[in-house]
Amino acid sequence: MDNASFMLTSGPTMMSDRVRAALGSQVIYDTDPMFLERFTRLERRLAGLMGTTNDIALMQAEAVVGLEAAARGLTGRGTKWLNLVNGPYAAWFADWLRDAGGEVVTHEVPYDEAVDPADVERILAEHGDIDCVAVVHCETPSGMTNPVHEIGPIAHAHGALTLSDSVATFVTSELRVDDWHLDVAVVAGHKGIGATPGISIVSVSPAAWDRMHANPSAPRGSFLSLLDWKTRWIDSDRTDFLHAPSVNDVLALDVAVDELMDLGGLEASIVRHARAARATRAGVQAMGLELWARRVDDAANCTTGVRCPAGVTTRQVIDHVRERYGVMLSMGRGDLASEIICIGHMGLAARSFYVQVALSALGRALDDLGVAVDIGAGADAVARVMSEPL
Ligand SMILES: *Cc1c(COP(=O)(O)O)cnc(C)c1O
Repeated sequence: MDNASFMLTSGPTMMSDRVRAALGSQVIYDTDPMFLERFTRLERRLAGLMGTTNDIALMQAEAVVGLEAAARGLTGRGTKWLNLVNGPYAAWFADWLRDAGGEVVTHEVPYDEAVDPADVERILAEHGDIDCVAVVHCETPSGMTNPVHEIGPIAHAHGALTLSDSVATFVTSELRVDDWHLDVAVVAGHKGIGATPGISIVSVSPAAWDRMHANPSAPRGSFLSLLDWKTRWIDSDRTDFLHAPSVNDVLALDVAVDELMDLGGLEASIVRHARAARATRAGVQAMGLELWARRVDDAANCTTGVRCPAGVTTRQVIDHVRERYGVMLSMGRGDLASEIICIGHMGLAARSFYVQVALSALGRALDDLGVAVDIGAGADAVARVMSEPL
């Protein structure tokens, strides 16, 4: 089978030519002063894009490692979490919390709705002793967001720390870690910024460090240890790594940040992603399909969930689009795998007319499989939105 001509999934995302060239650079010795300088500078640049002055741990593994490290670092026997669930990533997160001895209060809403901050306020007041709140900023298997900008300050007012899985919202929509009191935020290289799946970017507030230091079961001497990063890298003048970093992933990420800056910076990136999302939603609806999100305000800038129409399965549609048209789309995960077709519009895919490719391939495939759709109306709606100036 040939490579897909277009990879338009909920992540990983395609890399630009510049980022791919950086990935192919010669390996640099990790404690070469040039690499140390570049790595340290990258930490500060990423912090800037996340809106924080907190420490950054650039963990050398895919985002799930950063999430698990944060979960285990903050959780000891009896640590009480409020876990806010409107999708599969949040549901999985609770497994680590329980495994680490945490007590988990679950607040689950239907997966096509967002968490209501008023409920968070009420639950925190009712319990009075919740230590930490976990929230997923955007669930990529459905394209649903949560109002993290309201949830963080509410948790803070109740004396609880907030951990936000902002992997998919990073540079695709607003993320203001400090203003929103996000004690731990986890983002990654392989979604909006368009680098490789290989790096977890974790910001940690002083209060979150204090909790980890006070937690006897926080990992130490482990690949999952944020405290090792703190003592052996951050607090040791950043002169020696814990282990050899994935040098080329780091270089690719650094160049992805350069490119984002050259394309107008963070604000421009958010505007591009918002336009691609609007175009996708307009095209989906004009074609006669249904969005997953009940309310458009809860739909993400990074990816759009489409309800699988009657008469076909998500697997049939995804496979047909891939085999016949060379376009890779993705489906929901877990319980959502059979219900949702996802169109990713992150990074490179938020530029130019990639959304048009995704929708015409989806429309053609559905028509091939016997589902009536108006492909022309969809294409027209996408083109209209994409022609709006940024
Ligand atoms: C992409 C993503 C992750 C990282 O997980 P992978 O599926 O391994 O890419 C974690 N959380 C969220 C919300 C994500 O979108």
